Amino acid sequence: MRRAASAILCLALLLALAGCAPQAQTATVFAMDTVMELTAYGDREAVDGAVSLIHALEDRLSVTAADSDIARVNSSGGGAVDPGTAALLRRALDISALSGGALDVTIYPLVRAWGFTTGEYRVPGDDEIGALLKNVNYAAVQAGEANVSLPAGALLDLGAVAKGWTGDQIAALWRQVGVKSGLINLGGNVQTVGGKPDGSDWVVGIRDPFSEDVLGAIAARDLAVVTSGGYQRYFEREGVRYCHIIDPRTGKPADSGLASVTVIGREGVLCDGLSTALYVMGLEDAVRLWRENTGFDLVLVTDGGQVVITEGIEGSFTPMGAYTDKEIKVMRRG
Ligand code: AMP
Ligand code: MG
Repeated sequence: MRRAASAILCLALLLALAGCAPQAQTATVFAMDTVMELTAYGDREAVDGAVSLIHALEDRLSVTAADSDIARVNSSGGGAVDPGTAALLRRALDISALSGGALDVTIYPLVRAWGFTTGEYRVPGDDEIGALLKNVNYAAVQAGEANVSLPAGALLDLGAVAKGWTGDQIAALWRQVGVKSGLINLGGNVQTVGGKPDGSDWVVGIRDPFSEDVLGAIAARDLAVVTSGGYQRYFEREGVRYCHIIDPRTGKPADSGLASVTVIGREGVLCDGLSTALYVMGLEDAVRLWRENTGFDLVLVTDGGQVVITEGIEGSFTPMGAYTDKEIKVMRRG
């Protein structure tokens, strides 16, 4: 009799626990030129709020949408913008300075000349590149609380930081409304809120730049994991591959010897800006910048397939597939 009673109690407890387990609420959105997947446990409104936020940010930040803050500033050399747009621009200018100009928010004339905004790809001549480079200089951009001023001829493009910023805004919204467990995947930009509903870490895969497989996984909790790589967007002409990340020193697609850069840290916009910048800078300068700063770790893959990670993620990175048996080089601060 006692045994039967305790069995019933156990069953009731299990049912109660199952009833409490938060349901996955999801949304798939096409925005900012990519497919975005949102998952928040237990809160439908939080997911719907994130979808609205994505569309609002895209409307403000898109360089091609006719009436965005960025398009208006580009057509008139400056003016009033949403305070959030100005805050993002100020953060992007900081990261541009941190990277010594490898990230440059005024690179747009070059991105456009190579055809990456329209998909009508072309290889501009050296004279054209030289003329366009004269207007590339993030240091001459001024961003106030809710206004921007550009030097004559300069054009802004926040494509290298917009997704990381969007992820930060969604994560902040979700934390504010009490979401304990969420996954924000903005096409190559992943942000995690808390851990999985069962309390374990999220597992975020990192793409192998040479195949469709993953090269490894990062165990993540309240972290952004952001990858930039030439494989994400490129075209080929006469056997040469031209990628969408432009080296502001040359005006040509970056060719630094890195195939992909993943930046892991708390702040998505920093990870996003740095992933683009470090892809331009190459292995040595990327590791030097990591040694001189805190707040992020790296997974770097060279064109030769060597994987280099920084010591902060030594315990949370697991190589997978073809990389399981490869040597993983760990960079240390000391
Ligand atoms: P991401 O995918 O975050 O690496 O950003 C790449 C996008 O940023 C490109 O598609 C361009 O719109 C823009 N971009 C390309 N090169 C640079 C650069 N050196 N600095 C800032 N933005 C860039
Ligand atoms: Mg980026």
